[in-house]
Formats: sequence, structure tokens, C-alpha cells
Amino acid sequence: MPEKITMSADGILSVPDEPIIPFIEGDGTGVDIWPAAKLVMDAASTKHGKSIAWKEVLAGEKAYNETGNWLPDETIDVFREYLIGIKGPLTTPIGGGFRSLNVALRQILDLYVCLRPVRWFEGVPSPVKRPDLVDVVIFRENTEDIYAGLEVQEGTAEAKRMIQLLHDEFGWDIRPDSGIGIKPVSESGSKRLVRAAINYALARGRKSVTLVHKGNIQKFTEGAFRAWGYDLVRDEFADVAVGWDDCGGEPGEKLLVKDNIADITLQQVLTRPSEFDVVATTNLNGDYLSDALAAQVGGIGIAPGANINYVTGHGIFEATHGTAPKYAGQDKVNPGSVLLSGVMMFEHLGWQDAADDIVRAMEATIADKVVTYDFARQMEGATQVKTSEFAAAIVDHL
Ligand code: NAP
Repeated sequence: MPEKITMSADGILSVPDEPIIPFIEGDGTGVDIWPAAKLVMDAASTKHGKSIAWKEVLAGEKAYNETGNWLPDETIDVFREYLIGIKGPLTTPIGGGFRSLNVALRQILDLYVCLRPVRWFEGVPSPVKRPDLVDVVIFRENTEDIYAGLEVQEGTAEAKRMIQLLHDEFGWDIRPDSGIGIKPVSESGSKRLVRAAINYALARGRKSVTLVHKGNIQKFTEGAFRAWGYDLVRDEFADVAVGWDDCGGEPGEKLLVKDNIADITLQQVLTRPSEFDVVATTNLNGDYLSDALAAQVGGIGIAPGANINYVTGHGIFEATHGTAPKYAGQDKVNPGSVLLSGVMMFEHLGWQDAADDIVRAMEATIADKVVTYDFARQMEGATQVKTSEFAAAIVDHL
């Protein structure tokens, strides 16, 4: 019988064998990649005695066409009620009252962690010599920083008022033809993000958490993020984790928490990727870092992600690329991003065997050089297949 996923008072998810999981098919190539990913997820769960009762909810163009609303309240209500969901890419409506549907979903459900694991899968074409050295899990803060959308446009009455206020109250001289954005970074927001990263690292036997920040320049936002991260280690994790300065980089059996400046990090993830394990960072840094890292392991077609609130139990797993409208409906693009988001979802639900099976089967399919166009153009001797054929080949390997 299909049942809801629930969360107990001690914060543990209770997952039935037949969970009801809401999904958003997604716009553009969503019609291609969602059925392909679903085929593989269903086959892998059946193999392990599970079955997902998928429940479609609407957002994006499909929602707009059917309801006149880009993000119907019912969709939010269903995600709220069923806790865990998955989504394809969504068009960003121009002038629809939303900065972005993805950002709206994250903010409404307070999904404060953007989780992006970046690792190489055997056989995937990569622009670097040793993509196998990349195995990084990024915890990107999702609700504040310059991304919070607190901006005023140059030339407007609001901008003029703000410039005047900053001049009168703070003595700050800002050019009159400026637009202004506000960058809030809070102690509570930073600590809950770093807490989630440390808990994840501990649960998975990871070796280190690196706090990535631009604190040398932005002292009271990025610098404070770093300081609060180290405070948290001392206050809440002293028995199992230790900050670099408190151990001279010698953590013994404990989890090492260190920090790195954002700009040098973008170099080092390329030159010394094995030094990065779990990364916790503010919103904008995380955005740049996750795309840069994804490029090293095969790019956007297979990069998965999730947005999670570990306190309420809500999580939405998602393809990280956009709708690629020029390929929509052609059964052409790579379903890997939404499929690997499904793998993350299975891991989150405790379905590790099914998750591992999908990864193995996908690697075997790529090793056979049976791939979609994006990989085929970078691999010699590849057999280029359609989205649906790639999924069917993965199922054959399960
Ligand atoms: P995009 O849809 O991500 O596409 C950019 C390029 O990435 C494509 O032209 C293609 O490259 C490659 N690509 C994307 N998906 C792929 C897949 N499944 N397999 C293989 N390659 C893939 O970015 P965009 O064109 O800038 O954005 C289009 C729309 O998506 C916009 O409305 C944007 O706002 C929205 N968007 C949504 C999300 C989201 O829902 N999470 C994220 C980003 C953007 P090649 O043509 O070189 O092969």
C-alpha cells in the first residue's frame, strides 16, 4: 500500500517500502529525461523489493498552461506533506513574478542546503587528466547571501533613498548611478549549513570538511561564516571533529575541519582535487564551485543535486542543468543528471543497494560506449543512442 514518508521527533526519516514521492516532470527536455530516469529508478527499486508510488505535481510551463499559475499552491502543499520529492528542470518565467521557480521552491520550503556531490564515473569523458581524483560533496548555503534577492535597481527612487541613507547614517559614499544588492549572512544560517555538512561527513566516514569563504575581504559576512563554522566545531562536535588551528592540521581519528579562500579554492580543486572532501560554503561561492567542479567530471548533463532541510525533513532532488529548450522532445539529451539525483534520493531514503546498482549499471553502459550525444562527441568509437535507449541499456545492466 502506498504510504507517506514521515519524520520522527528525533529527526529520522521513516521510509515505507512503497513511498509516495511527488515529482515535477520539468519543462523543455523534462519530457525526455524524466521518463528515462523513472524507468531506471523503478527497475532498481523493484529489484530490491521496493516500489515508488509517483505523484505528479505541476510547476513551470506545464503548470502555467494548465492552471495559469507557474507554481501552484497545491504543488507546495504536496511537497510539504510528502517531505521528499524530485524534479526536472524548470523554465525561468520572464516577468512571471518569480526571480526563479527553483529559488522560490527553496525559499518557501526553507531548503537551506544545496547538496551537490561531484565525482567521476568510470568512462565519462573529461577535460582533465585525473578526473578520478575528484570526489567532493558540496554543501552550498541556499537561503541567504547575495542570492536572497535583496536588490534595488540603479536610478529608482529606492536606490536613491538607500544611497542617501547609507550616506547620512553610515558616511558611506556610493556613486549615485549604482544599483545595490544586500548580502546577509547570519550566524544561525551559517551554523545550520556547516552542521549539516559535518553530520554528513561523519555519517559517511569522510576525512575533512573545508569551509570555503572570501573572508579576507568580506570580513563580517564571509569571514564570519568561517568563524562561526569553527565555533560550531568546538561547541557541538568537539568529541568527533576538530578545527585546523586547534590541532595544527593533525586531527588524529577526528574529522578535520579546515578553511580555504574561495579564489584559491577554484585553482586547487583543479590542481589538487584530492585535498577536497566535503565542502561547506556560502551561496554564491557554492554556485561557482559546483559548476567548475562538475566540468572536471563530465559536465552538466550528469551533475545531480538536492535541496534539503535536515530539520523539517523536506528535500527536493533535482537535475542541475536547465531545460535545454533547443533539444526538447527530441529524445536526445543525457538523462544522467535527473537519474543521479534519483540515486542521491535513494541514498537519502536509505536505499543504498538500489542506488549502488544504478551507478554500477550506468558505469557499465558508459564502459560499453553506449552514450547520448554529449558524451558521444567526446568519445572515440562511441555508439550514440537516444535518451530512452540509454535508459533501457542501463536497465539491461541492472
Ligand atoms: P541549459 O538548459 O542547462 O542548457 C545549456 C546547455 O547545456 C545545452 O545547450 C547543452 O549543451 C547542455 N545541456 C543541458 N542539459 C543537458 C542534458 N540533459 N544533456 C546534455 N547536455 C545538456 O541552460 P540554458 O539554455 O541557459 O537555460 C535554459 C532554461 O533553463 C532557462 O529558462 C533557464 O532559466 C532554465 N534553467 C533551469 C534550471 C533548473 O531548473 N534547475 C537551471 C538552469 C537553467 P550543448 O548544446 O553544448 O550540448
